[in-house]
Amino acid sequence: MFPGNHTLIQGLYRVGDSTMPGIGVPAVAASGILCANTLVGVKQMQELLGF
Ligand SMILES: Cc1cc2nc3c(=O)[nH]c(=O)nc-3n(C[C@H](O)[C@H](O)[C@H](O)COP(=O)(O)OP(=O)(O)OC[C@H]3O[C@@H](n4cnc5c(N)ncnc54)[C@H](O)[C@@H]3O)c2cc1C
Repeated sequence: MFPGNHTLIQGLYRVGDSTMPGIGVPAVAASGILCANTLVGVKQMQELLGF
């Protein structure tokens, strides 16, 4: 299993093809999206999107 976005160091995240969901450009893009999604709550996301 590849590791997820979180590390033991607060504020340090990992993305890329050695993390979930794995190897390949689409998976790498998804790992960045998943990581960004963990940083922002639903309410904050709605505000950012102008809802
Ligand atoms: C031959 C080959 C063909 C492929 N073909 C495809 C394909 O057709 N379709 C597809 O979807 N995927 C393909 N892949 C996989 C895809 O290229 C990788 O999964 C993707 O590029 C990984 O992206 P990444 O950002 O995680 O890592 P990388 O693209 O490897 O980026 C990591 C970057 O970090 C830099 N770096 C490393 N160490 C340090 C350091 N200590 N300090 C500063 N910078 C550092 C590196 O120089 C590099 O620029 C292929 C891979 C290979 C090798």
